[in-house]
Amino acid sequence: MRKKTLSDLAARAGDRIVVRVDFNVPLRDGRVADDTRIERTLPTLRRLTAAGARLVVLSHLGRPGGRPRAEASLRPVAARLGELLGEEVRFSPEATGPEALARARALAPGEILVAENTRFLAGETRNDPELAAAFAALGQHFVNDAFGTAHRAHASTAGLALAMRARGGEAVAGLLLEREIRFLGDALEDPGRPFVAVLGGAKVSDKIAVIEKMLARADRVLVGGAMANTFFRALGLETGRSLVDEDGVELAARLMDRAGDRMMLPVDCVVSPRIAPDAVTREVPRAEVGADDRIGDIGSATRRMFADQLKQARTIVWNGPMGVSEMPAFAGGTLAVARSAAAATASGAVTIAGGGDSAAAVRAAGLADSFAHVSTGGGASLAFLAGKPLPGVEALSDAQGTPRRPAGE
Ligand code: ADP
Ligand code: MG
Repeated sequence: MRKKTLSDLAARAGDRIVVRVDFNVPLRDGRVADDTRIERTLPTLRRLTAAGARLVVLSHLGRPGGRPRAEASLRPVAARLGELLGEEVRFSPEATGPEALARARALAPGEILVAENTRFLAGETRNDPELAAAFAALGQHFVNDAFGTAHRAHASTAGLALAMRARGGEAVAGLLLEREIRFLGDALEDPGRPFVAVLGGAKVSDKIAVIEKMLARADRVLVGGAMANTFFRALGLETGRSLVDEDGVELAARLMDRAGDRMMLPVDCVVSPRIAPDAVTREVPRAEVGADDRIGDIGSATRRMFADQLKQARTIVWNGPMGVSEMPAFAGGTLAVARSAAAATASGAVTIAGGGDSAAAVRAAGLADSFAHVSTGGGASLAFLAGKPLPGVEALSDAQGTPRRPAGE
């Protein structure tokens, strides 16, 4: 069922709209250290204020555990948002209750009020219906633009959407959320082929549902990262002192059986006795990993083999780095995959990177703009790729009929 988006929102100028965003940004010395997440919300906020809406913006920040903590206050974030917009942004130290409501009511059309961290309230992560109703009382409609928390049912996400609809208001996806579901959804439902999935990262058991889903849909599944070590073990290969997901070995064996030649494992590895920034590394075929070695990355033959597959792909979905990408000595494989995917984008493939660490590696390489889409949600994109329902999306108002297309499309 298609969900309503900003274009379906029948709001009038002067309406108060509650917008849930992801302002979960790093703070240093009371200032915003990286405002990427704030910047990403600007299109939705601007679209709404330009239409004369009055906005009450909600977000969580960190894990304050259901009580106020000065170091997790959204006050500096509200200030930064104001700088980015070049307009005054108001702040409410309460996110619910009479004071918050009074501040929301005092807004002029086009003005924005950022309310304090939703996770200062005990009911937030338990999705307390009373808290959700209190959030909903702040406005006439709800826009959810927080993809990063869409896989969790919290009071300010799924709860608020249902509470707003119960009051007769609408609950719609913001521009960011809409983009995420469109890219990830289309890739799973109707991918251009060949469809190549690249999976890496640390654990097999964490990502088992994603591997299974990709095996069912993709033409090729390329496996790297520590995840590959678990498959090596299942093949009976020496993995030395590498990170292996011991609980995942049997599962890996079964998956390999089922996948046949659709799954490609690394043929060589970058190894070192230590995984450290100053590690001295060597490359070996996968059958020659020593008992004292640690596998830290995929080797050059593997990078070429993966590049060949990615070159032919019309759809690429990538989750999880190919090695310990935080350290330059083991970042080469991840960088090579990022470059191959970027080249595929240039020749028309739909390329999607998801996962916190993979997205960070793509950004660090300066290649974020060379992907069709870099997902903003680590856990949420993983849940989506695994085919799990996202409560924050499911709770939104259903759209009737066929999707609206912008004029000229
Ligand atoms: P994502 O956040 O993109 O979903 P994960 O969190 O699953 O990815 O995996 C990223 C982590 O996996 C990183 O911390 C990286 O260092 C680690 N990793 C990848 N390959 C290896 C390896 N060969 N040995 C040890 N750790 C690895
Ligand atoms: Mg991660």
